[in-house]
Amino acid sequence: MNYYTDNKKVLRHYLSHPLMKRIVAMQERGYTQAAQYNYAPVDFDEAVEGYEKVLELVGELCAEVIAPNAMEVEKEGPVLQDGRVVYAPATQRNLDLFRKAGLMGISLPREYGGLNFPRTVFILIEDIVSRADAAFGNLWGLQDCAETIHSFGSEEQRRRYLPRISAGETMSMDLTEPDAGSDLQSVRLKATYSEEEGCWYLDGVKRFITNGDADVHLVLARSEEGSVDGRGLSLFIVEKECGGIHIRRIEEKMGIHGSPTCEIVFKHARAELCGSRRMGLIKYVMALMNGARLGIATQSVGLAQAAYNEAYTFAHSRKQFGKEIINFAPVYEMVGTMKARLDASRSLLYETSRNVDMSGQFTALAAERPLTPEERNESKLFAKKADALTPIVKGIGSEIANLNAYDCVQVHGGSGYMRDYVCERLYRDARITSIYEGTTQLQVVAAIRYATSGFYSQLLDEYMAIDVPEALAPLRDRIAAMVERYKSAIERVQSFGCQESLDLLSRRIYEMAAYCIMAALLLADAAADEELFAASLHRFVALAEALVAGHATYVAGYTPEMIKNYDK
Ligand SMILES: Cc1cc2nc3c(=O)[nH]c(=O)nc-3n(C[C@H](O)[C@H](O)[C@H](O)COP(=O)(O)OP(=O)(O)OC[C@H]3O[C@@H](n4cnc5c(N)ncnc54)[C@H](O)[C@@H]3O)c2cc1C
Repeated sequence: MNYYTDNKKVLRHYLSHPLMKRIVAMQERGYTQAAQYNYAPVDFDEAVEGYEKVLELVGELCAEVIAPNAMEVEKEGPVLQDGRVVYAPATQRNLDLFRKAGLMGISLPREYGGLNFPRTVFILIEDIVSRADAAFGNLWGLQDCAETIHSFGSEEQRRRYLPRISAGETMSMDLTEPDAGSDLQSVRLKATYSEEEGCWYLDGVKRFITNGDADVHLVLARSEEGSVDGRGLSLFIVEKECGGIHIRRIEEKMGIHGSPTCEIVFKHARAELCGSRRMGLIKYVMALMNGARLGIATQSVGLAQAAYNEAYTFAHSRKQFGKEIINFAPVYEMVGTMKARLDASRSLLYETSRNVDMSGQFTALAAERPLTPEERNESKLFAKKADALTPIVKGIGSEIANLNAYDCVQVHGGSGYMRDYVCERLYRDARITSIYEGTTQLQVVAAIRYATSGFYSQLLDEYMAIDVPEALAPLRDRIAAMVERYKSAIERVQSFGCQESLDLLSRRIYEMAAYCIMAALLLADAAADEELFAASLHRFVALAEALVAGHATYVAGYTPEMIKNYDK
C-alpha cells in the first residue's frame, strides 16, 4: 500500500498546476543552487522528480507504518513522567522513522539542513500524513514553526536553531492561556528582562499546548509592563534544555490522543526575543497562525480523505438484504457527497497554498533586492488572496472534515460506533479541527471584511472567467447564478447599515462565499481534468446551490427585529 500512489492522479494534478513552475523557479532562485548543492534540481522537471520521490516515500511510510500504528498510538497515548512528556512508544517509532527518512525541515533552506521544498509540496506531504494519523501529523507538522524563526529571527538564531529542526528536534507554539484563548490580546505570561544577564525570563502558565514538552518553544508573552493589549506582547524562543519549563498535566481529550496537549508552567525560564519587541502578536503570531491555519486545513482534508476511503471500502464489503450496501441510494448518496466535499475542499486548499507560496516567494525576494513596481503589485495581490482564502479554507475545510467523519460513521452503522473501526477515531479526531488555531467563528470574523469589501466577489469574477469544455458550460452557468445570489445577499446585509446585523448574518455570508469559491475552483480543476473531477463537480454544485439558496432565503427573511432578545 502507498498513500501517494493510490491517490496519485489527484495529488499529481496539484503538483502540476501551471503556477507551480513559477513557484518552484522562485523557490530555487532560478535553479542557481545546483552549483552549490549537488542534490539541488537544475530545472522544473528535475525538481518535480525529486518531490515525487519524497511523496512516494511518505506515501509508503504512511500506509505501511503510520496508519497501522495509529490504533496503538491512540490507545497508549503519551504519559507524564517526572514532569516530562513521554510519547507513546508507537509515536516515538513514527518520529524516529520520519527523522531517519530525512522528513524534517521540509521547507527550510538547504543552508540550514532543509529540503527547500515549496509550501505547496509541504502541504501535499501533510495531506498524506494527516490521512494516516492526524495526531502524529500534529507532532510532525509543528516543524512549520521554524518558518517563524526563519522569517523573523536573526541570522545568528537561524544558524543556531534551524539545523536542529531539520535534524528532527520538535517544536511547539505556546500562545493560549486560561484567560486568553480566542482573545490572545489578553495574554499575561510575564517576560522580564535581566539587565545583568542580558537575557529575558518567562513566568506564568500556558494551557492546551500541543507538544508542550517540545525541544524548542515559541512563546507569546507580555514584555511591556503595565500594557493591556496586543501591543505589549512579544514573541520568545525558549529551549527545553535551558530549564524552567514544567509540564503540569497532559489533558485527557476526546480525540487526537497521540498528540500531547499540555499545561505548562514557566518558572524563570530563560528566553530570547524573536524579532522586535511589541510585535509578537501584531506581526509574528499573525504570520505563525496563518501558517498553522493552513496546516489545520490540510489536516482536515487528510481526515476527510480518510473518512471517505473508510466509508467507500466498508460500503463495498458490507452486505444487507442480499447485496453490498453501496447499492442502496441513501448509502451511495452519502459516499458520493463525501467525495464531492473532499474534492472541493482540496481544490480550495491548493489554491490557498499556491497563493501563500507566491506571497512568501515575493517576501523572500524583497529581502534580497528591491522589487520592481510590477513585482510589488503582484506581491500585494498574492498576499491579499492568501489572507482572504486562509480563514475560508481553515473554517470550511474543518467543517467538511467533521461532516465527512459523521457520514463515515453513519455508513458503518453500529460498527461505526465501535472502537474497532478506524472511523470512530476519525470522528473524534476531526472534532478538534474546527476549534484549534482559531474556532470557525473566529475564521468568520477574519474573513468577513473580504466579503463586505467585495474582494471575494472580485475573486469569484476572476475564477469564473475561464474557458470550460462544452460539457461543463451548464455547470458554469449554475455557479454564476449562485455567485449572483451571494452578491445580492451581501447587498441586503449592507443595506441594514448596522454592525449587529452584519455580525449576526456573517456566518451565512461566509459560507455562501466559501461554497461559491469552492464550486468555482472545482470547476477550474474539472476544466483541466474532466475525468478526474467532473463527477464531484456535478454533485458539489447541487450541494452548493442548496446551501446558497437556503442562506439567501434566511438573509432575505432577516429583519433587525430578530436581534432583539436573541437569547430568549
Ligand atoms: C487539543 C487542543 C490543542 C491545542 N493546541 C494549541 C497549541 O498548540 N498552542 C496554543 O497556543 N493553543 C492551542 N490550543 C488552544 C486553542 O487554540 C483554543 O482552545 C482555541 O483558540 C479556542 O480558545 P478557547 O478554548 O479559550 O475558547 P474561547 O475563546 O473561550 O471560545 C469559546 C466559544 O466562544 C466563541 N468566541 C470567542 N470569541 C469570539 C468572538 N470574538 N466572536 C465570535 N465567537 C467567539 C468561540 O468560537 C467558541 O465557540 C489547543 C486546544 C486544544 C483543544
